[in-house]
Amino acid sequence: MPRSTVARIDLGALRQNYRLACEHAGPAQAMAVVKADGYGHGIVPVAQALANDAPKYAVACLEEALAIRDAGLRQPVVMLQGVHAPGDLGLCVRQGFEPVLHSHHQLAWLDQMAARPTFWVKVNTGMNRLGFLPAELAEVMRKLDAIGARPGLLGFVTHFACADDLDSSMTAEQTARFEEATAHWPELMRSVGNSAAHFIPGQPMFDWSRPGIMLYGGSPMLAKIGPELGLKPVMSLEAPLITTRTVRAGETVGYGGGFVADRDTRMGMVAIGYGDGYPRHAGTGTPAAVNGQRIRLIGRVSMDMLAVDLSNAPDAREGDPVELWGPTVGVDEVATCAGTISYELLTGITARVPREYR
Ligand SMILES: *Cc1c(COP(=O)(O)O)cnc(C)c1O
Repeated sequence: MPRSTVARIDLGALRQNYRLACEHAGPAQAMAVVKADGYGHGIVPVAQALANDAPKYAVACLEEALAIRDAGLRQPVVMLQGVHAPGDLGLCVRQGFEPVLHSHHQLAWLDQMAARPTFWVKVNTGMNRLGFLPAELAEVMRKLDAIGARPGLLGFVTHFACADDLDSSMTAEQTARFEEATAHWPELMRSVGNSAAHFIPGQPMFDWSRPGIMLYGGSPMLAKIGPELGLKPVMSLEAPLITTRTVRAGETVGYGGGFVADRDTRMGMVAIGYGDGYPRHAGTGTPAAVNGQRIRLIGRVSMDMLAVDLSNAPDAREGDPVELWGPTVGVDEVATCAGTISYELLTGITARVPREYR
């Protein structure tokens, strides 16, 4: 019998979160960001679950776009990082992928192609990862005209650096730069808006927003957990309690002996560890739950197991499922305890953990 460590995926919750994104994005449309294997939830089931609602998907790379096509879905797929080789442009044409072109290097590839895909141009308004500076845009447009590629241009994209922080003025500055830089071409579409931007009051979303983490119930905002923003948890990560015992006051638990019981403590071992993607940096005190009762981790997370304090759950027995995150314990809470963000936890669940869908 397989061990019952599992990531349960609630596709109904995913759809509700997508609808919330649409409400916040309106009148802009929302392209569903399903990169990194649907943020660890499985790109194909996630894309299929949103197929009746989402007019477009967005992914990071070609392999992810192809996974959507292989599943038989026909919507356009935006490739947020563009293409990595000129030959990929031909595939984009055939498959209806929309690469985001961000460098002169990529524009030169367009010139080499007989057939051109529809595409977007990335504007660097301050994130300083990818894109053309506002001052370069006129030249980019001349170049596209010169090589006859202008008809394929759908519009402009930019990405916010600090939208998670309502106290930052950066998003307003980036929005103003984007608006000004693209104002000469009102016939073209514009896309801004990661999940966080959906929660900034009054934030313009232009034509297309690009929600990712919020679809999966993770909070995009600093110091907020998903449910506080109206988001439903999508993944419940569960693993069985495989043994229970009482450690005596003064004894230690696990590698390094860092946790010392301050009193006799009933504890349990749970069949999940960093080999499953559970974060090793989640230390003593990180919340989990058993039978709806919150409990805490103790000691160091091992590769295949972790220890929990069962003082709060005297009825917990071997075989009971422990929730590592889900409806009782928010993934954002665990992320905070591990010094990271829900994005990393969700995308980090390894192939050893089966995904079960409902
Ligand atoms: C990943 C990504 C998004 C989605 O970001 P979330 O914070 O997960 O909503 C949007 N736009 C771009 C360019 C991205 O790379």
